[in-house]
Amino acid sequence: PDTVRLLSSSQVITSVLNVVKELMENSLDAGASSIDVKLENYGLDRIEVRDNGVGIKAADAAVMAVRHFTSKICSHEDLESLETYGFRGEALGSICAVAEVAVTTKTEQEDVSTQYTLDLTGNIVSQKPSHLGQGTTVSVAKLFKNLPVRRQYYSSVKKRKEELRKVQELLVAYAIVKPHLRLLLLHNKVVVWQKAKVADDRSALLAALGPAAVANLLPCHHRHEEPEIFLEGFFPKPGSDYSSTSSSGPEKTFIFINNRPVQHKEIMKLLRQHYTAQYADDTARNRYPTLVLKVTVSPSSVDVNLTPDKTQVLLQNKEVVLTALEALLISLYGFRPS
Ligand code: ADP
Ligand code: MG
Repeated sequence: PDTVRLLSSSQVITSVLNVVKELMENSLDAGASSIDVKLENYGLDRIEVRDNGVGIKAADAAVMAVRHFTSKICSHEDLESLETYGFRGEALGSICAVAEVAVTTKTEQEDVSTQYTLDLTGNIVSQKPSHLGQGTTVSVAKLFKNLPVRRQYYSSVKKRKEELRKVQELLVAYAIVKPHLRLLLLHNKVVVWQKAKVADDRSALLAALGPAAVANLLPCHHRHEEPEIFLEGFFPKPGSDYSSTSSSGPEKTFIFINNRPVQHKEIMKLLRQHYTAQYADDTARNRYPTLVLKVTVSPSSVDVNLTPDKTQVLLQNKEVVLTALEALLISLYGFRPS
């Protein structure tokens, strides 16, 4: 059974990035307005995510890392109208199977926080009072200590740095869709990136991408009726210099579906086709546009169950979304790629 647990956990928990993402989603689901992510040795020695959310009640704490325990879904209907990031109750338990986990938490009703130490199976092995304020801090030490091959992957400095960059990009993505959220990323006690609470989408974008990138972007939106699909975002200004508004990698093309940062092959392909055709020189071909696209669809028409890490989603009305996106691009640039 331990091997089975390890195997399935290692499919849910695949990387440092993935741990940070799951923990941040839990913090967001807990209504946090502030999240600190602290990494030691690129997250291999320790990943700590601290929030000021509602905390975990003692009764829930006892089972929080038990497989398939979730406080978020009560019925099948909830799953149809999913408004939380988490719902399958798998993350915390899976992280326990591949690392040393401690959770410190305090709800509004409690006077002091409690630190719980969990074992490989997600059971609480010890608990003691602690001094932290309201919210939850999850500490994940020695990630993949029992998966040497996974750990080996990070033996190259290049891979570790790449992972840190991806963690930063994840925070930047959340910064774009969560103006009110305060974020901090520390690596070995050094501030890598941070964002204060801001009032609106544009200020969030400035905090996330910087003034130079934002100066080249134009807000726009497009509504499609039946099925109702809303597209909005910030796109390269018509006539802007594509070499300065694009990158050699996909990291600045931000795609969100119902506020989830996602990767979506077809959407990305359509975007790239469009910009490559628009800027028909060879340099454009291998580049990715800097832009933000937020797709809002009915929660029942998105399936986030496609991959355990929820970065890839299945859209029920994919063709309609793509057609709507094309319409938005054409209205913005007056241009139809061949
Ligand atoms: P899920 O997010 O799918 O419910 P998780 O394994 O990620 O499953 O978390 C299990 C449960 O632990 C959550 O449903 C929630 O009750 C609790 N929990 C985990 N992290 C936090 C947090 N940061 N703040 C409040 N509750 C949390
Ligand atoms: Mg979760």
